[in-house]
Amino acid sequence: MPTVPHFLAPYAAQLDPAGVYTVRQIAALIGAQPQSVYNLSSHGFLPGARVRVLPRGGREKVWTGKKLARLAARPIQVTYHHDRYSPATLYRVGCRCPNCRAAHTKESQERKRALAEAAFPAEKRQLVLDLVEAQTPVAEAASEAGVPLAAVYGRALWDAVFAEALDEAGWSLCVLGSDDPMCSSAPAYRGNQSKRDPCRGTGCREWRRESSRQTRAAAQS
Ligand SMILES: [Zn+2]
Ligand SMILES: [Zn+2]
Repeated sequence: MPTVPHFLAPYAAQLDPAGVYTVRQIAALIGAQPQSVYNLSSHGFLPGARVRVLPRGGREKVWTGKKLARLAARPIQVTYHHDRYSPATLYRVGCRCPNCRAAHTKESQERKRALAEAAFPAEKRQLVLDLVEAQTPVAEAASEAGVPLAAVYGRALWDAVFAEALDEAGWSLCVLGSDDPMCSSAPAYRGNQSKRDPCRGTGCREWRRESSRQTRAAAQS
């Protein structure tokens, strides 16, 4: 049977030998979804857990940091039974076939989104949208909601619904007003040196996007 380094091996230095680890904590350590760690544990890749009785009832598995460090140092022997294990589990224990890779990519993405959700939850998203709708520039709205500006634009990159809502709210940001005939035009986007700020409202940004698209198309033809 082939052996591969234990999936905890790369994180061995981060383990606190005096610590006690729950499934969630192990998941956070290795960048996995808790469900994956449950699966790895139920398939026997994390032996030596203790069962802890929770103060409010119920029980959970925990591992001492010392135990995890010992597991990390021990290579795993495994044959890749795709009918027995989930692809995400097999990826953790070393399988790099396309199916297991895809499952791992999906898991990483889900985890990133779960973290993004925690960092910029729905009620803060609504607050940002409401503020922008009320003509607060996006950067100011983000700081008022207590989220980094990068989280706002980062979310808009993959959450199409939010991106659209932000664009929609951003129409109110036109320095001229979205009802002004000059909204969504070159002079509005560029501003007027002394008199008027360059506009970054949705209409004017769309003008800019369209005009650079046309410039690119013209250059290619
Ligand atoms: Zn595989
Ligand atoms: Zn504008």
